[in-house]
Amino acid sequence: MCAWFQKFSDSLLGKRKGSETKVSSTAAGRRRRITLGLDFGTSTSKCCFREEGDGKPFVFAEFAGPGGAGSSPLFDTAVAVRDRKLLFGPDATRAAEVIRSFKMCLPCQARLEAGTPQTGRCPRCSEILPGTFEIAGTTVSAEDLCTLHLSVMLSEVLPRIPAAVGADASRLRVHVNAAAPLDQLREFGSVGPYFERVVYYAFRLAESGSPRRSWQVKDAIDALEAIRREPKPSESESPTALFPETHAAMTGFLLLPESEKGLYGLIDVGAGTSDISFFWLQKDENDTRAWYYATGTTPKGMDDVDRSLAPLLNEPHDRLRAKRESMGADWVSEHSGMFDDVGRAIDKHYTSVYGNARQLDQRDWAWTDRQGVAQFRLFLVGGGAGCEPLVERMCKAPPRGIRWSEQPSRLLVPANVSVVSPSGVLNSLRGAGFESARPLLLLAYGLAHPRPDVPKFERDREGVVVVKVERERITHEDLY
Ligand SMILES: [Zn+2]
Repeated sequence: MCAWFQKFSDSLLGKRKGSETKVSSTAAGRRRRITLGLDFGTSTSKCCFREEGDGKPFVFAEFAGPGGAGSSPLFDTAVAVRDRKLLFGPDATRAAEVIRSFKMCLPCQARLEAGTPQTGRCPRCSEILPGTFEIAGTTVSAEDLCTLHLSVMLSEVLPRIPAAVGADASRLRVHVNAAAPLDQLREFGSVGPYFERVVYYAFRLAESGSPRRSWQVKDAIDALEAIRREPKPSESESPTALFPETHAAMTGFLLLPESEKGLYGLIDVGAGTSDISFFWLQKDENDTRAWYYATGTTPKGMDDVDRSLAPLLNEPHDRLRAKRESMGADWVSEHSGMFDDVGRAIDKHYTSVYGNARQLDQRDWAWTDRQGVAQFRLFLVGGGAGCEPLVERMCKAPPRGIRWSEQPSRLLVPANVSVVSPSGVLNSLRGAGFESARPLLLLAYGLAHPRPDVPKFERDREGVVVVKVERERITHEDLY
């Protein structure tokens, strides 16, 4: 581990200052504003909340494990059915037939409803009616399933907030920040509105208090329909907001006192998708902001690695991930030849995003010095950042003979953030033994910042998502 990374890992949140949004107690009325970062992941979902204001602690929610045993800040993105009841999260994982990765079926549903042809057969949802699932004789859409899943999770978190921040519930106003893959946000595709509705109605449903981990199918659908009949506020009035995943992951880092002005690359390999971006971090006393050069999402991730390894793992597709994880990192490395195509696809995407970034800033020396040493710092995020064969590749690409003065590092949440147990006990993440979850919690952590500043994103002529940096903000002196 490099020294810089160690310094970052050990940094104390209590030291944060200067870079925070100033609290506007007047604008918020007298109610204290809570920002809840909701990371709806393809394989696990996470929640982090925080009261707005300098130095306020970040608190992750822990969720009881299957049947109430054990707990974890990771809530399985899984649904199952038993006796006409829907089971959610950890409770679903023990059932005979588990539906996983259903988030990836929002695009299936969106394509069907927009009349766009499906891109190949989806292994998860219905072949006859893409974007839906047959559950106990009821056709449930991916959107419904996503909404119900998040509502169950949020309904477990909301009641714990008042005690955790030391306030009466009536004195609090909760806002939810969630993330979506960059190219699926409203500006870029038709799936954005689906994500927005999912998050909004999940929150409303959670507030109603009706969600249950074990929930009658009919009751769940009825509750969802009832909440959808209520008027929905305009986007500016909404208690929920959506941000690009990449930016959310970086936000936690950007705001740390240790982060320095400079050029950065970020590779986030998730279960379903991989995001890659390059940006300039502007940082002075008044302003901390990322100006993006280029960014993009590719629908390749650890699920594809698992599918490639399936002949060896010999498990049904919903159990591949667990089996692969149980085999250990060395086993995965030994069989890396089987998922070489996944690595190549992510590599290709990386090279193309890097190329786009270089188009915007064509000064070679800004990217590499004369010896070919990279002048940008690379971060690896997400579950795939722990997959050695993929990481090895990423550390070599783009194929221009780049070397690093400091090896690309994994971005983690600080170990001293808090977790609140299902019974409301506050612990530090380290003390609670969730060390290994730290890389996976970054997105929720970044989203729990009240105002992840989102720069302007645009599409280029070819329809590739390119984020144009506001070049006038970067002067030569800024760079060197
Ligand atoms: Zn699907």
